[in-house]
Amino acid sequence: MVLNTKTRIISLIIFAFLFSILIRLIPVYQFNDTEHLKFNNEFLISTGDGYWRAEGTRDLIAGFHQKNDKSIVDTKYASASQLTAFIMKILPFQLETIIFYMPAFFSSLIVIPIILIGNSLKRLDMGFVAALMASIAWSYYNRTMVGHYDTDLLNIVLPAFLLWSLILAIQTKEDKYLLISAIDIIIYRWWYPQSYSLEFAFVGLIGIYIIYQFFKKQDINYNLTLITFMLIAMINLDNLLKFIIVVILFIILKIKRDLFIKYLSSLYILFAVAFFLFIYTGGIDPIILKLKGYIFQSSTLTIGGLHFVTPMQTVREATSIPFDLFANRISGHIIIFILSAIGYILMVRKYPVMILTLPMLGLGFLSYSNGLRFTIYAVPIFALAIAFLISELSNLVKNNILKYSLLSILTIAILAPNIKNVIDNGMPINLVKDEAVVLDKLKGIANREDYVVAWWDYGYPIRYYCDVKTLTDGGQHTGYENFLTSFILTNKQSQASKMMRLNVEYEEIKYAKHRGGTHISNMASDYGFKDINKFLTSLQSDIKLPKKTRDIYIYLPERMFNTYHTIKLFSNINLNTGVKGTESFIYKPTRYREDTETIDLDNGVVVHKKTGKITINKKTYFINNIATTFYDKNGKLQSKIQTINPKASFNVVFLSKEKQFFVVDNSVYNSLYFQLFILENYDKSLFEPTIITDIAKVYKLKI
Ligand code: MN
Repeated sequence: MVLNTKTRIISLIIFAFLFSILIRLIPVYQFNDTEHLKFNNEFLISTGDGYWRAEGTRDLIAGFHQKNDKSIVDTKYASASQLTAFIMKILPFQLETIIFYMPAFFSSLIVIPIILIGNSLKRLDMGFVAALMASIAWSYYNRTMVGHYDTDLLNIVLPAFLLWSLILAIQTKEDKYLLISAIDIIIYRWWYPQSYSLEFAFVGLIGIYIIYQFFKKQDINYNLTLITFMLIAMINLDNLLKFIIVVILFIILKIKRDLFIKYLSSLYILFAVAFFLFIYTGGIDPIILKLKGYIFQSSTLTIGGLHFVTPMQTVREATSIPFDLFANRISGHIIIFILSAIGYILMVRKYPVMILTLPMLGLGFLSYSNGLRFTIYAVPIFALAIAFLISELSNLVKNNILKYSLLSILTIAILAPNIKNVIDNGMPINLVKDEAVVLDKLKGIANREDYVVAWWDYGYPIRYYCDVKTLTDGGQHTGYENFLTSFILTNKQSQASKMMRLNVEYEEIKYAKHRGGTHISNMASDYGFKDINKFLTSLQSDIKLPKKTRDIYIYLPERMFNTYHTIKLFSNINLNTGVKGTESFIYKPTRYREDTETIDLDNGVVVHKKTGKITINKKTYFINNIATTFYDKNGKLQSKIQTINPKASFNVVFLSKEKQFFVVDNSVYNSLYFQLFILENYDKSLFEPTIITDIAKVYKLKI
């Protein structure tokens, strides 16, 4: 049976698509019975940003949201939420299910442009092998697996379609590819506003080709038209408007070709106008900004004479990665990576048009110095390269059966390490089910205009589950914002509670009165302090707080304990001088041994029971407080606190239920987090418990 090309292409696409989907269902099969990964009968979202998009989807479906609630629907990043809300309308599934499976479905569409690219080179076998590889290769899989609800699910599919359409445009000079390329860019820009640099690189590459053609005295009209269409699609205008302009231009081109081709001048003018508008509307600003970002990285940030800690250095994605990890991320194995590099050179030599893959490959390789997240751009390109190599090798064999056997074996060999990654990768989650339960319960208690104060990591999930406002989140956590949240979590209840009220009311005033400046400097000047430190000290006394406009809750999850140290850094700085304070002491032994005289807490930390002293680093100190927590008959947490020497620096805490010791210094011991979460020792005039569980505690502010 001989199939015609079209039927073959469609069958290969369907096969590769189903392959990609089935591989992505492996974790679902692995963890189907694991209830703590699920909420409302569906697996949880695996990324923090996913909750941001999910919040936006919820708001779009509801048709309303609160003013200044930081919902994604008011930003230019709403695309994924818009797509999800649309799917919600046409499919009969619950939101959580659509969100969970969407990445698997859309990211698998990558097989279409890859197979079409193979076909455009008249190498369908290569396209097919590349499609299998590209769909599940390490980093692409990790960032598009079920539950990874983020723009990644189309971030590679859309430029891969653009690549396909540009390859065909250059190869065939057919008009339709002008339109397809422009529309793809418009969709890509809607989907991912940061797509900018990649589009710019594509335009630049074709620009260089035009210059080359010009000096070789070749006809440049088509490519100039192509680049003009692309630039128009890239202008910072409303997407619908751009779409209309592109379609109208295309119609003019079709019926009045003279305007474009015979009268060359009009083409040049159009190009010049497009290029001008492109620059004028802020065309290269993002690139300039990016370059600045790379060059000027520092660990503190100065605003209005105050020094804050920048979060940049603590983000893993923004740091460079070792070579083998980089290679694994792109190809699944270092040997496959090296062979792909060889295949790439051979492929480009045989098909010069494949130079068009350079922007994506280049962006992928940027991650070697700038962190993991960009590796996915190189995945489909190296998949094409290794597939080319495999196809060339198997073509050396004349016997058809042997040839396809070799092709299959080599394909399985490159897929194997990537499938192993899928199996080992499991089902990552951002927050555990029990936290979702707490937040869902809080939704029924808190008002939509109320604030929930928490470290920024929890901002998006809190807003998704509780439908409340937050001060910080995954997109809003600069040094001066983190300073205030850090201050609240790591200071004594009396100061922290006042700062909670101040922070929230100043946040609302910022929006209502369009007030500039940082909250902290505004607070200090409103209270008549020139010295910021004196203002912070004044919080220990009775100050008049701003009018209470809403309720405020504070969210304290157990897992925050592990990041307490990092959280503390943000407010443990002298704002005037930028000098960092002494680091707080937290020790959490993983085991201990107790005898009649001592409790050995490992690593040379020993508590002497009779004398009430503790040895740390071979030095012996008095203990300040020894606190033991236990649950009474009613399941209520009680703590027994014995003060040995109030002037001493170290405190020993024992959670008898968890059989866990802590050794902490006084600042940690007295902090809001420690007192309210670990000991439930809240000041009844300042806080009231709202939801108390082992995994997370919520208190309501009473002032
Ligand atoms: Mn809201």
